[in-house]
Amino acid sequence: MKGLTPAIKYFKDAIKESDEISAECSESLKTELTKQKGYFIIAVAAMEKQTPNPVIPNKRIAELCKCPICKTELCRDDNDLNYCPTCGQALELS
Ligand SMILES: [Zn+2]
Repeated sequence: MKGLTPAIKYFKDAIKESDEISAECSESLKTELTKQKGYFIIAVAAMEKQTPNPVIPNKRIAELCKCPICKTELCRDDNDLNYCPTCGQALELS
């Protein structure tokens, strides 16, 4: 998906800013910002899953590799290796 990297950066900055703002505001606004921050963290995690991550190559057996996130052993010949079947991480075959 196009534009994910700048969107991830935007939300990560917003998470940092909400911590800074939160320190100086009322209790009710603080509660709202905490809730919003929780949603932003979930959004970042979902977007990072959609960002292709390079697989970890197997040094001995070239046909095998591992998911960079959950370390599931994967076969490069699998036609559907755009995503990890275990955790759903988007993969980049190198
Ligand atoms: Zn995985």
